[in-house]
Amino acid sequence: MNPAIVVLNAGSSSLKFSVYEVVNDNLKLVVKGQVEGIGTSPKFRAKDPTGNTLAQTASPSTKGKFGQAEAFAYLLQWLLQHFQGAMKVIGVGHRVAHGGADFIEPTRIDPDTIARLEKLVPLVPLHQPSNLAAIKSVMRLRAELPQVACFDTAFHQGRARVTERLGLPDAMFREGLRRWGFHGLSYESIAKSFRQIAPDIAHGRVIAAHLGSGSSLCAMNNGRCVDTTMGFSALDGVPMGTRCGTLDPGVLLYLVRQGWTAERLEDLLYKKSGLLGISGVSNDVRDLLASTEALAAEALDYFVYRIQREIGSLTAALGGLDALIFTAGVGENSPIIRQRVCAGLAWLHIDLDADANRANQRCISPKDQTPSVWAIPTDEEGVIASHTFALIHR
Ligand code: ADP
Repeated sequence: MNPAIVVLNAGSSSLKFSVYEVVNDNLKLVVKGQVEGIGTSPKFRAKDPTGNTLAQTASPSTKGKFGQAEAFAYLLQWLLQHFQGAMKVIGVGHRVAHGGADFIEPTRIDPDTIARLEKLVPLVPLHQPSNLAAIKSVMRLRAELPQVACFDTAFHQGRARVTERLGLPDAMFREGLRRWGFHGLSYESIAKSFRQIAPDIAHGRVIAAHLGSGSSLCAMNNGRCVDTTMGFSALDGVPMGTRCGTLDPGVLLYLVRQGWTAERLEDLLYKKSGLLGISGVSNDVRDLLASTEALAAEALDYFVYRIQREIGSLTAALGGLDALIFTAGVGENSPIIRQRVCAGLAWLHIDLDADANRANQRCISPKDQTPSVWAIPTDEEGVIASHTFALIHR
C-alpha cells in the first residue's frame, strides 16, 4: 500500500484537493479535483495529472448537511474505491490564508495552533474560517492523521519594516494593520523552480507576476521577498478578475457616507470590481480578449497599465532588475498579455522573443538579454505537499 499526502484548499463553497503518492520519498501527483457547491448543490470532480476526468458526480449527497467535513469524507471514500485500498493517506496539508507575524513557516497542526489561527480570522474573514473548518473536519473524522498548515503570508515575512508599513498610527501597525502580502506559496514555488532553471539569475533581483483570477507581483532578491503588491488584504495592488486592486481610501469614505454597509462594500470590492466591474462583460481575460465591447478593451488596458506601473515600482524597490517571471493562469498561458505588458517596459531594456513568447516557452526573451523574461508554471499544491511530507517525517 503506497503512502499518500492529501493537499486541501478550502473555500467558502468549495474544497479543492490534490493527492500525491509517495514513491521512494518522492511525491507524485496522482489526482486533482474539487468539491464545488458546498452548502448548495455539491459536485465532485477528479482528474488525473494530464487533465483526464476520473470522476464527475453531481450531488454526492443531498441528504442532510453537506459541509467541509462531508466533502472530505466523500473524498476519502472515493480514494478508497478508486485506488481499491492500494493507497493509504498519511497526512493532510492545508493552504491557510493568514499566518500573521508568528507563523512564518509551515506548521504541524494541534489544538493550540488552531486557537492561534482563529485569532487571525478578523484579518481575513472571507478565507480563514473555511481553512479552519477543513482542518477541524479532518481532525474530527480522522484524528490520527497528521495535518500541516502552509501559509500564504509566510513568504513575505522578515522583509524590511518600511515595506510592511501603512501610513497609519504605529499602534495600528502593532494591532495587525500592516502590508502582509499574499500568494506566498506561489512565490515560494517560483523561487524554487527558478533556482533550478536559472541558478545564476535566481540569486539576483527578480520580479514574479502571479496573474490569475487573483493577481499580485512580488520583488525578490536571492529568492527572498523584498516587497509585494498585495497588502493588508488580497484586494491591494493590481486589478484582478473581480477584485479592485489599489483604491484611494477616500472612495470608501465617500461610499460609507452614501450609506454603503460593510457587507455591500465587501461584495463590491471582492466580487464586482476589477476586470468584471470595468468591462461589465467577464472576469476572464480570455473572454475580454475575444470581446468587441469597448469596455472589455478598457478593462484590459487598465490591467496591463497597472501591472507595468507595479513593475516600475518594484524595480525601484529592488534597485534594478535581472529577471521578470510571468506565472498563474494568465501569466503562464497568455502570450498577448505578456507581450502587451512588456511592450511598455522597453525603458527597462525588457524585450521579448516573439516566437518563444507565442509558444509559451520558459525563457521568452532573446538569448543573453538582461533582464531576461520567463513564463514559469506555479505549483502551490506541490509546495504544500513537500512541506507536509517533510514535517510529518521529521
Ligand atoms: P486561480 O487564481 O483561481 O488559481 P488561475 O491561476 O488558474 O486562477 O487563473 C485563472 C484565470 O486565468 C482565468 O480566469 C483566466 O482569466 C486566465 N486564463 C487561463 N488561461 C488563459 C489563456 N490561455 N489566456 C488568457 N487567460 C487565461
